[in-house]
Amino acid sequence: MTTIYNFGAGPACLPQEVLLQIKDDIPNWYEGMSVLEISHRLPIFMALIDTIEQNFRTLLSIPDEFAVLFMHGGARSQFAAVPLNLLKGAKTADYLVTGMWSALALEEAKKYCQPHCVASSQSQHYTAIPPEASWVFEKDAAYFHYTDNETVHGVEFLTAPNSKGKWLVSDMTSNILTKPLDFSRYGLIYASTQKNLGVAGMTLVIVRKTLLGHAHPFTPSTLNYELVAHSNSLLNTPSVFCWYVLGLVLKWTLKQGNIEKIANLCQQKADLVYHFIDSSDFYTNPISKESRSRVNMPFHLPTPALEESFLKQASEQGFKQLKGHKNIGGCRISLYNAMPLLGVEKLIDFMRAFERKH
Ligand code: PMP
Repeated sequence: MTTIYNFGAGPACLPQEVLLQIKDDIPNWYEGMSVLEISHRLPIFMALIDTIEQNFRTLLSIPDEFAVLFMHGGARSQFAAVPLNLLKGAKTADYLVTGMWSALALEEAKKYCQPHCVASSQSQHYTAIPPEASWVFEKDAAYFHYTDNETVHGVEFLTAPNSKGKWLVSDMTSNILTKPLDFSRYGLIYASTQKNLGVAGMTLVIVRKTLLGHAHPFTPSTLNYELVAHSNSLLNTPSVFCWYVLGLVLKWTLKQGNIEKIANLCQQKADLVYHFIDSSDFYTNPISKESRSRVNMPFHLPTPALEESFLKQASEQGFKQLKGHKNIGGCRISLYNAMPLLGVEKLIDFMRAFERKH
C-alpha cells in the first residue's frame, strides 16, 4: 500500500504511534471497558486529566499564575467566551485583523461590545500583517485579541505583537506547541484540539488566574472560565475520547524533545517548502516573506486546471488533503507536528516532478 501523507489543515494527521495505540486501547482501556464507555469521574480518568495538565505545563513552561482549562465548543466558542469573561464591564476591546479567523473573532465580539479594529489587512487580501506603524489602539480596550497563526491565509506572528500594555489574548489553534511562548505578555491563549493536540471536540484555554471571576452575568455556565476552573474542567460531561487522544499526543510530543527542538523541526520543514516554492516559477505563495506561516502554506499553480490535475495526481500518489480553503481556493500545505520531515521531502519531490511534466 502507498504510504499516505495527510497535509490537511484540520482535523489533521495524527502520529502513527498514536493511531496504533488507539486501535490497541479501544476494546479494553480499563477493566474490560473501552475509553469511549467509562465515567469521567473514575480515578483513572482523573489521573489522566492531571497528567495532561502537567505535560502541557512542562512542554510550554506555563507559569503557576495561569489556569489550564479544557472546554467544549471549539475555538469559535472562545470568540464569544473571551469578551463574555474578559470585558469586565468595558465597552470595547482591541482586535487586530490578519485573516479569516481574526475577522470572525471580531464579528462575534460585536454581540458583546463594540470591538475596535486596530488594523486590518483585508484590502491586501490578508497577504501580510499590517505594519505596526499603522496600528491604532483604543485606550479603554479591555484586552488585545489577535490570531497568532491564520490557518486559511497562511499568516503567522513570529513574536508576540505590541499591545500597548494590554493583555494579549491569542487564538493559537493552528500553531500551539510549535514554539516557546513568553507568557508574561499574555492574558489568555486558546486552541482547539484538531491540529496539534489530537481530534476535534475540545478547546485548550490557558488563562491568567487574576482574570477569572469577572464574567458577565449572562455568560453560559459552560463558557464561564471561573466555573470551569473550579470544576477542574468537569463542569459537565467532557469528551472523554478527545481527552484520551490528547493524552497520547502529548506523550508523543514530549518524546520528540523540548519545545525549542520542536520549533526547530517546524522551521526546518517550513524552510524546505518555501525554499522550493521560491525557486520555482510554477508554484507561488502570495504571502509577504516576513508574515509567512510555518504551518499553513497556501499556494497556486499557473491555472485552475493545473491545480485540479495537481490535486488529483497528488492524492493518487498518497499526498492527501492539499486543496486550499473554500474561501480562497488554490492549494495549501499544512505541516503540524505529526507530519514527518520525510513527508515534506517526498511532497516536494512530487511537486518538482509535476512542475517538470507541465
Ligand atoms: N481559529 C483558527 C485559527 C482556526 O484554524 C480554526 C479552525 N480551523 C478556528 C479558529 C475554529 O475552530 P473550531 O472549528 O474548533 O471552532
